[in-house]
Amino acid sequence: MAPSFTFLLFIVLLLSGTSSVPNGRLKMLNDKTSESVCLGCVILVSVIEQLSQLYNSTVTEQLERLCSYLPEKWKLQQVCFLVAHSFGPDIIKLLEYKLKADVVCYAIKLCKQEAGQPVCHLYHPSEVGFEVAIKEAEEMATTRILKNVGGSSHICSLPQLENLCEIVQRILKNKLPFEDLDGDKFSIFPTLRGYHWRGRDCDDGMASVYPGRRPDDWDAEQDSNCNGIWGIDEKDGIPYEQKFCNGTESKGVIQLGDSAAAQFHIPPEWLTASQISWKVYSNLLEVLTNEFDWPQFSGATGFLNSTIGGWTDSFYLRLLERNRCNHRDYQNISKNGGSSKNLWDLVKSLARSQKFDKPAIVTYAMIGNDVCNGKADTVAGMTLPEQMHSNVVKSLHHLDSLLPKGSHVILIGLAHGTFLWNNLHDRYHPLGQLNKDITYGQLYSFLSCLKVNPCKGWLSSNATLRKITTERAMQLSSVLRGIAEAEKYTNFDLFYMDYALEEIAEEWHTMGGENWQLIEPVDGFHPTQIASVLMTKVFWEKILHKWPHILGKGNPHNNQIAAVFKDQGGH
Ligand code: CA
Repeated sequence: MAPSFTFLLFIVLLLSGTSSVPNGRLKMLNDKTSESVCLGCVILVSVIEQLSQLYNSTVTEQLERLCSYLPEKWKLQQVCFLVAHSFGPDIIKLLEYKLKADVVCYAIKLCKQEAGQPVCHLYHPSEVGFEVAIKEAEEMATTRILKNVGGSSHICSLPQLENLCEIVQRILKNKLPFEDLDGDKFSIFPTLRGYHWRGRDCDDGMASVYPGRRPDDWDAEQDSNCNGIWGIDEKDGIPYEQKFCNGTESKGVIQLGDSAAAQFHIPPEWLTASQISWKVYSNLLEVLTNEFDWPQFSGATGFLNSTIGGWTDSFYLRLLERNRCNHRDYQNISKNGGSSKNLWDLVKSLARSQKFDKPAIVTYAMIGNDVCNGKADTVAGMTLPEQMHSNVVKSLHHLDSLLPKGSHVILIGLAHGTFLWNNLHDRYHPLGQLNKDITYGQLYSFLSCLKVNPCKGWLSSNATLRKITTERAMQLSSVLRGIAEAEKYTNFDLFYMDYALEEIAEEWHTMGGENWQLIEPVDGFHPTQIASVLMTKVFWEKILHKWPHILGKGNPHNNQIAAVFKDQGGH
């Protein structure tokens, strides 16, 4: 979804800023570059301001402190110092006058008022008003600012930073997943769509070895499906795969989803002044190369212990517990911005051979992007019911040619996003906690003004608009329900389920939790890790109750598998 690019741009700004190439211009990374640079600037300057307030030190020291926290790899620190030295002196001077970050960013021209557009403020304006404050700030600023902006160029023009820029730009251009999945689909590396996303390959050199395969010759010689079960039991000469897995209805988990399904998360400690230390940025590279997603903890395919709050519980882990032959057979084909509109691209990058592989349980979960966009006329940008029908049916038809017989597809409805405004609008955003000066309501308006609101329909103070958005979401959910009832396919059976936000909230209340804890603190939009694992619990229990055949029977040999193969080679 949009915030990933926005916050990537925050990082890009942090990393890039300006260089001294004469007459250069900021390279356009996507069509929202200038707005995102403005957002990045306001966030960054707010953090710097709060750091200096908190530690009672100068802004210069704080800028340098922030840079020193960044990893040294890819010259991140070096670039940060470069930014600090380009813009630092002006930011420092303006902050000394106690100006707010949004005023500072307009004054140093990282925020620009477009013709016919309003100026966008995050903080409540001072008594003189926002526009007067900006004018005064511009006068206070030195000529150095103009020189910087006039001669600015993207940092990527520096040859020593090509690698970093290439990765960041590929993520920004939204191309990374598909490009990288066209080739070898399973990987021995974690990020860049590696085994955090799909089960780890156990023999990278052999194209016929990968998770989800039906065992070749009962894996007597080698582990062709990477589930950690192979070889022959010397006692009776029977291959273990045959003995432990044959007839156990072993199957894989495939998630076709959006950023919520990929567990989108921006670490709040990155922008919470009181929590910033060298430690909080130590995972920056991993986060970037995973597109700000954490599929390794996700409710669909998570398998590592969560480091982003809550705990880990996933559909994959539950299916593995039910049948250890399913080990490593997971694929999280989710993508920030995923919706019925780009479902086709997602389906194309799914890896399943009708001929060689086991059946799979495929979940379609696009809970918001068909009604969420940041366009001026947001309603016009929403998917229409007939479009939804055609997008989904076309992709299901294609799935029927990919999935092995005996597979299952479950369509999940859209979320009721009015939950977001209702539970967050008057709470303080992580950036506003120190001085009690930024609520989510303010953040949403600021994002709308900059045209980077990930969901203008729901993240809005306009109650009528929120209602219209929910109505459309419900209409689209009923299209999905209708498809599940009407359509029949050769290789899979088809089901529909609501996105059970109310049940998740109830479940959380019984555990002593509150609604706001179910929403990501930085973007105020995505479900948190806690919401995702509770969704998995609700989802699993419903399937177990209504359609247990989807999950297959429990494997009676699970204990023997554990005794012989221990952790089955881990994940
Ligand atoms: Ca095997």
